[in-house]
Amino acid sequence: MSDAQTSGSTSQAPGFYRFRIGAFEVVALHDGVVVRDRPAGFVRNASDEEVGEAFAALGMPRDKLTLTFTPLAIRTGNGVVLIDTGFGEGGPPGTGRTLSNLAAAGIAPEEVSTVLISHFHGDHIAGLRRKDGTPVYPKAEIAVPEPEWAFWMDDARMAVAPEGLKPNFGLVRQAFGPDAGSVRRFGWGDEVLPGFTAIQANGHTPGMTAFTIGSGNESMMFVADITNNPLIFARHPDWQAMFDMDPEQTIATRRRILDQAAADKMRVSFYHAPFPATGYILRNGSGYEFAPALWTNPAG
Ligand SMILES: [Zn+2]
Repeated sequence: MSDAQTSGSTSQAPGFYRFRIGAFEVVALHDGVVVRDRPAGFVRNASDEEVGEAFAALGMPRDKLTLTFTPLAIRTGNGVVLIDTGFGEGGPPGTGRTLSNLAAAGIAPEEVSTVLISHFHGDHIAGLRRKDGTPVYPKAEIAVPEPEWAFWMDDARMAVAPEGLKPNFGLVRQAFGPDAGSVRRFGWGDEVLPGFTAIQANGHTPGMTAFTIGSGNESMMFVADITNNPLIFARHPDWQAMFDMDPEQTIATRRRILDQAAADKMRVSFYHAPFPATGYILRNGSGYEFAPALWTNPAG
């Protein structure tokens, strides 16, 4: 009988995974997992039967939606850059593990020097603050995409937003409001920090941003939510997930970035890929395949 059976524990080993890009140490952090029934109409332009078939073809339950959340922490030698925060304390059960996994990887919240945000959905920003409003990363500069800020911080737009979108406007104000004056805003194409460049990736939200991360002669790309689970949406790049605010733009962005990743054979990290959420993109007919990177444990 295993320890897990005798102790009743169901937890895994700590959810972090390290790899190197040049002189940078990149740490993928598991914020958690949510499993729910796949909502009807999850893909706007494919039938639920077709979508179920695609899930089953990958060995996944055909009627469930399993979402994982993977922020990155990058030790640059000049501080620690966190990309996206996870849900923090107020998310669904099974999430909010970024901080404990950061600790398991040997990084204290005070060491985080910059938090880069890809876009303003709760799974990416709610971990900026505790429930009592205090900042989780007290020494970090917060840097966000200007077009995302312009959309969500616009009070006039909030006033006329559809009911379904209003809670997210509120969440954005909770996350940034108290320090709005000190939040740094960057544009697409900007080198946000040495080695980190903001890449236009809008569609899922109006200002979503991907980042290239380069050190020495190595580079990778963090592609945020250009797909939900890339196992599914790389194979079906024209599928419009219900979470994507501008479906046409989402697909144009997805194809542009997947094309580039495939052509450059560049390592990509997705936010919603199976942990550790990093791998490569291959062209396959009119679509693509996500090939997870091999788990490695280099000596030394
Ligand atoms: Zn997301």
